[in-house]
Amino acid sequence: MTTNAIHSERTKVRTPTLTGTHLLRDPMQNKGAAFSEEERDRLGLHGLLPPSRLTIEQQVALELEHLRVKSDDLEKFIGLMALQDRNENLFYRLLIENLPELLPIVYTPTVGRACQQYSHIFRQPRGIWINPDDLDRIPDVLRNAPHQDIRLIVVTDNERILGLGDQGAGGMGIPIGKLTLYSAAAGIHPVNCLPVSLDVGTNNADLLNDPYYLGYRHRRLRGAAYDELIEAFVEGVKEVFPRAIIQWEDFNRRNAFDILDRYRRRVPSFNDDIQGTAAVAVGGMLSALRITGMNLADQRILYIGAGNACIGIARLVRAAFRSQKIAENVVHAAQAMIDTHGLLHEGREIDDAHKREFSLTRGEMDAYGLTGDGVDIEAIIRAFKPTVLLGATAVAGTFTEPLIREMARHVERPLILPLSNPTSKTECTPAEAIRWTDGRALVATGSPFAPVEFKGKTHVIGQGNNVFVFPGIGLGCILSEASEVSDEVFLIAARELSECVTADRLDSGTIYPDQSMLRDVSRRIAGAVMRESRRQNLGRLIPNESIDRVIGQFMWQPNYSPNMEGG
Ligand code: NAD
Repeated sequence: MTTNAIHSERTKVRTPTLTGTHLLRDPMQNKGAAFSEEERDRLGLHGLLPPSRLTIEQQVALELEHLRVKSDDLEKFIGLMALQDRNENLFYRLLIENLPELLPIVYTPTVGRACQQYSHIFRQPRGIWINPDDLDRIPDVLRNAPHQDIRLIVVTDNERILGLGDQGAGGMGIPIGKLTLYSAAAGIHPVNCLPVSLDVGTNNADLLNDPYYLGYRHRRLRGAAYDELIEAFVEGVKEVFPRAIIQWEDFNRRNAFDILDRYRRRVPSFNDDIQGTAAVAVGGMLSALRITGMNLADQRILYIGAGNACIGIARLVRAAFRSQKIAENVVHAAQAMIDTHGLLHEGREIDDAHKREFSLTRGEMDAYGLTGDGVDIEAIIRAFKPTVLLGATAVAGTFTEPLIREMARHVERPLILPLSNPTSKTECTPAEAIRWTDGRALVATGSPFAPVEFKGKTHVIGQGNNVFVFPGIGLGCILSEASEVSDEVFLIAARELSECVTADRLDSGTIYPDQSMLRDVSRRIAGAVMRESRRQNLGRLIPNESIDRVIGQFMWQPNYSPNMEGG
């Protein structure tokens, strides 16, 4: 399909056919008090609205006023979701114009609370629910989606929601939130997006015992029956939405890797927890090198945690080293990983093949003077001398003062990345990392934190939020109509992200761009992804000189379209 065809298809979707109360109840067409006199005449709206007319700018200002009087972030979340259900153009306009303020409400950390409270704050359904009873009718269930030209699906089985574990039906907040970010950050039109919950039950006893729980009230489906449901889902998507990219979201580690490996070449798909996280973390590391002037080859990275996030990041770091033709023995020795049982090394029995990739060899252990006994992280730091300390454990306080002080003894500007979400799970706060290193640490976190004042200097804390990469990757893959989301795409995205960090941000010790730059960052990453897809011959071969135009034409800008009848 040509770009123009994509564009006009979208325009057709937005052309209103509704009148009167039906029009006011359609979130994609409703303008609320912004309907003009002429529209009120023609669309049967007289008497249904108060007489004065507001502009969209006034409506945004009013929505912001409503939001700011609410003191509880969960109430703000509920208010924003209600606006999304009422008037999507206004919702997205508000969000895009106030990204740094509203991202923590529509996504982490507040979305975590919304998932936990889901059944109790439920107002309007959104997206598609599939449970084991739907096994033989998944295509029919998918056809019930409100829109038919689906290009992007975010799907979760709800088992590992942020750092909060099994949230059952409540996990639906995550695909909804992620797709909201796709639309806000990369301009992927909401009618092209579909959130899906594979509600395979829950092992969360609190939910199963809650009389108001809305989900599939069974213990989790496991084994062959689970695999069969995933297979039927993928086949259903291929049948009903053949042009859709699937983003796998918040699966537990084993399922996340299995599903990614099984399907990545059968449908264009990726796992944001593994691959998106990797791109954002590596992007941050590359930015840190821009600050310190060090080489990638001289980095030693210690991971606390060995789950989706850490393994995905370590794989991409390895790819980044290899792309610089760094010797394989240096590449392998540069990374060490600790799980709940201690350091991953050859002398330990480790069932999981993904973890074994990052086990230090006997020779490397000897060279570092590591014994592998116990879980003494401080001793490991003393021997390994990491330049980067990265935590993705979902355990608050894992980075203790002695541990950070030990790290700072060996490196001038330690890069400290406590990535766990939500805020309550962070491995340490930025203020702690900065204080314990006497202001030398470069810190970026998973959740948002305010700037830290220390000895007269303001340290702006970048948030290593995947939102910097997945919208651009999704947009680039949609426009390339890529048959596969290749590994290289994530390294390309990491490099582009790092290039987006301005010199003054780097000067304030920040390794990520300002979130108000999100649309620009997504646009640049999408362009880089499209160039890479063409290089790999994975989709449409769009010439370099056309890429910006293609992206610009596709990116949706929420507004009350003049194309709307009489708008
Ligand atoms: P996961 O459950 O797959 O992995 C967690 C890992 O931490 C496991 O390997 C576990 O053994 C290990 N662990 C737990 N406690 C530990 C301890 N005290 N010492 C050493 N290891 C320990 O989860 P995940 O997907 O890897 O996510 C982990 C955390 O990272 C979550 O809080 C998630 O929200 C966060 N995260 C942040 C970003 C981001 O900032 N961009 C992206 C992805 C994940």
